Amino acid sequence: MTASTQFLAVLPLPEFHTLSQDQVRGATCVWDGVGLSPETAVDLGERPLRRVGGQAGWFPRACRRCALEQAMNALVAHSQSCEQCVDDRDLCPQGSGLVRAVRAARR
Ligand SMILES: [Zn+2]
Ligand SMILES: [Zn+2]
Repeated sequence: MTASTQFLAVLPLPEFHTLSQDQVRGATCVWDGVGLSPETAVDLGERPLRRVGGQAGWFPRACRRCALEQAMNALVAHSQSCEQCVDDRDLCPQGSGLVRAVRAARR
């Protein structure tokens, strides 16, 4: 797992049961269903998935545009409700994690 994947692994995803098979396989963007190529795809890290018979993981992927948009939205939403981030974001693990996610999606 690369560093940027690790940062993007904090982003919330759509409900698993709302996704198509292609989205689950990582062939299309997990948010807007756009077809992905190795150049455009952004890995979102391994996500736990509860299945009958035990825990499994899956590896969602997204297009760069959605990854950046989602990272920005998550950062704005978090900043608006976090006193620590108003005070000093560097001291907030979640806030600074989201800043890294935005940077990782931009790359
Ligand atoms: Zn997308
Ligand atoms: Zn915060």
